[in-house]
Amino acid sequence: MKIGFNKPYFTGKETTYIKEAVEKGHISGDGFFTKKCHQFFENRYGFKKCLLTTSCTDALEMAAILIDVKPDDEVIIPSYTFVSSANAFVLRGAKIVFADSEAYHPNIDAHQIEKLITPKTKAIVVVHYAGIACDMDAIGEIAKKHNLFLIEDAAQAIESFYKGKPLGSFGHLSAFSFHETKNIISGEGGMLVINDEQMIKRAEIIREKGTNRSAFFRGEIDKYGWVDVGSSFLPSEIIAAFLYAQLENIEDIQQKRHQIWQKYYQDLSEGEKKGYFLLPKIFDYAKHNAHMFYLVCRSVEERTDLITYLKSKDIQAVFHYLSLHKSPFHKSQVSHIPLLPHSDYFTDTLVRLPFYYELTPEEQSFISQTILEFYSKKG
Ligand SMILES: *Cc1c(COP(=O)(O)O)cnc(C)c1O
Repeated sequence: MKIGFNKPYFTGKETTYIKEAVEKGHISGDGFFTKKCHQFFENRYGFKKCLLTTSCTDALEMAAILIDVKPDDEVIIPSYTFVSSANAFVLRGAKIVFADSEAYHPNIDAHQIEKLITPKTKAIVVVHYAGIACDMDAIGEIAKKHNLFLIEDAAQAIESFYKGKPLGSFGHLSAFSFHETKNIISGEGGMLVINDEQMIKRAEIIREKGTNRSAFFRGEIDKYGWVDVGSSFLPSEIIAAFLYAQLENIEDIQQKRHQIWQKYYQDLSEGEKKGYFLLPKIFDYAKHNAHMFYLVCRSVEERTDLITYLKSKDIQAVFHYLSLHKSPFHKSQVSHIPLLPHSDYFTDTLVRLPFYYELTPEEQSFISQTILEFYSKKG
């Protein structure tokens, strides 16, 4: 019995809808299925405007263009995140100011943000790690007080909430991912959410290679042309068709993932009580989406040993996110590396367990038993 870390789940309807898209004879972007997906998100979450993109990375790059990031502008970003959260702004010449995580959670520590703000600060980017909400009231207040853009990297946060409100609805702009490692997938894929009405028109233009093609197709203008910077950020109908099949099954997918999450939590709580490791911390204000399950180990050595032990039993557990402030690229760009001990702590100690729709309760029990066995052998 070999248990991999991730396995993309297919609802069965994906190829039917792709075939439909092909038969409709329109497979470039913004056709029938793209519109269905946009409507789905706008209705379900009340987002002002949604635009599918080819990845979350693309959505973040669009966000950086939309808020007019210029060379020497500063953008505050957590260090414990995926490279795209930072790269999108680096591409526009921004200086990245890395913020630390909370002591007991990888999310950005709201209390550490304000001291990083300077007259050059343009935006704050938050990342809802594991689909668990950042403290959006506190962060929203800081952004407002200093007149900064707030951007949510909500790549992992579809169907997550902060005080009952969907994540993705707090930022001026928010970015989601449908990469095959996320809850809802389309292979590669993403979405930009525009909550600030003033940016909607320009977002459509930037996504369509800097042309006003979208307005042309709606009949608002009689010819379209080059009006702004832009790129090709929109996905084909084939990707949107795939995505729509997933969205139709979102309730089922989420229910299954929550079952898996709860079972891990129950099976492993004994290990936390014994002080072997920490389980994910869920804040009172956060309703998470069962995106992943992780443990926080006591040291980097113990984590390495645990991963090796699991591998010897054919279980693939992985760690991720090496603090970006210590990355070779960032080091080559700056003269001063800040001290971000919490980010480094999660870099060293966090381990992710296998997590996917088709993971069976038997496989899960085996994983949890193996973990507990590792620790009891160690004494
Ligand atoms: C997955 C992920 C991304 C990148 O998403 P893509 O769709 O692959 O571009 C960005 N940020 C975070 C936090 C992610 O987890």
